[in-house]
This record gives sequence, C-alpha cells and structure tokens, in this order.
Amino acid sequence: MFLMLKFVLIDTFVTKMYVYFQLILLLFIVVIDLQIQAYLNQLHQTYQRTVQLKHFGLSVENRNLTAIKISTGGNNRRPLIFIDAGIHAREWLGPAQAIYIIKQLVENSRLLKRVDWLIVPLLNPDGYEYCHVVDRLWRKNRSKGQGCRGVDLNRNFDFQWSQHSKFDHECSNTFAGQYPFSEPESLALSKILLEYAHRTKIYISLHSAAQSILYPWGYTTEVPNNGKELHRLAAKFSDAIYQVNFTEYKVGSAANILYLVSGTSRDWAYGVANIRLSYTVELKGVQSHILERRFQIPPEQIFSAVSEMFEGIKQLHSYIEGRYGY
Ligand SMILES: [Zn+2]
Repeated sequence: MFLMLKFVLIDTFVTKMYVYFQLILLLFIVVIDLQIQAYLNQLHQTYQRTVQLKHFGLSVENRNLTAIKISTGGNNRRPLIFIDAGIHAREWLGPAQAIYIIKQLVENSRLLKRVDWLIVPLLNPDGYEYCHVVDRLWRKNRSKGQGCRGVDLNRNFDFQWSQHSKFDHECSNTFAGQYPFSEPESLALSKILLEYAHRTKIYISLHSAAQSILYPWGYTTEVPNNGKELHRLAAKFSDAIYQVNFTEYKVGSAANILYLVSGTSRDWAYGVANIRLSYTVELKGVQSHILERRFQIPPEQIFSAVSEMFEGIKQLHSYIEGRYGY
C-alpha cells in the first residue's frame, strides 16, 4: 500500500513537473515567437505608407510565416530584391541580419526610390523556437516522422531534389523530406517567390556561418550560363563588405566553395523561378572545431557583422537600381 502510494505520488509529482515544464516551454515559445511578429507589426503601424505585411503561410506548428514588403510606390512594377532568413533554425545571425536590413530600409528612403524589397526574416519559426528552448543545434523544421522529427527545408525544394543518398534518412540533419515540397514552409516560400518572380532581380537566402557568397549551382560543379555576371556581382558585394572591417567573404558557386547539395532554395530560385541573380549568403561565424561555437557569434560582434554586411547589400541595390530601376 505504502509502496503504491509512493509510486502514485512520484507519478503525480512527475506528471505535475512535466505539465509545469510544458507550460514554461509554451510560455517561452510564445514570447520568443511574438518578438519578431510584434516588431514587424510595429513597423507596419509606424510606416503605413511603405510597409505591408504578408502572412503567406503557416508552419507545421501553425505559426505565421510573414513577409514584409517595403515599397514607396511604382504600382508593383519596380524591380524587387527578395531576401529570406532563418531557414536553418540554429543560424541565428540570419534573422538578426534580416531585421537589421529591414530597419535600415524603413529609415532610409533613398534605397526605396526605384526598387522594392520583400523580406522574410524567419522562415522556420518552429525550429527557431525549438533551438532556443531545447536543442541549440537544431537545424530542421519540426514536422513529425516515423522515428525522428524534422526536414531540412533547404533540401526540400523541387529542383534536382534528393540527388545524394545522405539526405534520405529522416534522422539525418539534412533529411530532404519524403518528397519535394513536402513541408509547408518550403512550399509557402516557393509560392510567394513565384508570385514575385517576374520582377525579382536578386534573391538572397541568409545563412551562417561559412562566411561566403554562393551562387548556383549546388547540385553540380558546373556554373550557369550567366556565371560571369553572378561572380562579378558577388565579388563587388564581397569587396564592399571588406572595405568596412577587412572581413573576407569567399565568392564562388556553392558546389565549388562548400559541397555538392541539392534541393536548395537558391538553385530552385534560379532553375525554376528563373531569378538570374540567386545567392546564398553565409554570414559570419566563429572559427572553431566545436560545431556549436560556430553559430554563437559573441553578442558584442553582432552589430559590426550585420552593419558591414549591409554595405554589401547596398552594393547589390545600386547594381539593380542602375540596371533595372523603374
Ligand atoms: Zn544554413
């Protein structure tokens, strides 16, 4: 009897603790998720004439996928720069960089005169929350599998999908999904990219931390037919960043600089949405053989990292403005 009571008590205690833990987790999740949403809403209130918010889908756990459109006019005919961030959960500098760019744009109308901007600051909100409260190194989204959770959204795009066997297992950190666009986050991004593809002159996907500017292809070491333009512009971009603090960004095709990879948003944007200037920007990281440290840029270095990168972004803008400005 005593023993049973003891078990029941332990069981009740464990159950209670589990419920408390879940509640605390939920509270954290709600708070973190709302910070970015609240900031975007605040910008919409403050800059009603230039800022529009577009909720273009829902994540696996039903969080809003939000894009911010920044435009001062032009009847939806101006060239557009499309930027996304946070596709990989643990690469926290991406969303920070996107928010910095958004802030600079709304406060600096010179960059809005002849070019529109569409920015998705957090494409994988479920994974982002999860790596804040449970596993700092979580990379994928949070979809349920047979035994493991999560699909690498940047392997799930429907272009040369799953070319490499290492993306086949659902427990792998780079699992490409059961089929192309199986995930609501990657599918939603592809739809909004297609909606704006006719006037998107540059697509940039922000990642970290390989400190490089990568153009197609990832699935093969060959380079597309406008490879020279892709390379020249990336070199200008990299030079502009270097001028600020002498930070060096490598430039090249993804397969040649990093590794062979298929089903990425960058290759899809180029190969399917036909956006001829398509880049993955791998932001600054920390040189370390410990994986976790590479994504943990010290807080005091964040401002210089995102502001020097913005000098590169301005270079891209002036290229687009000069060539296509409406
Ligand atoms: Zn990444």
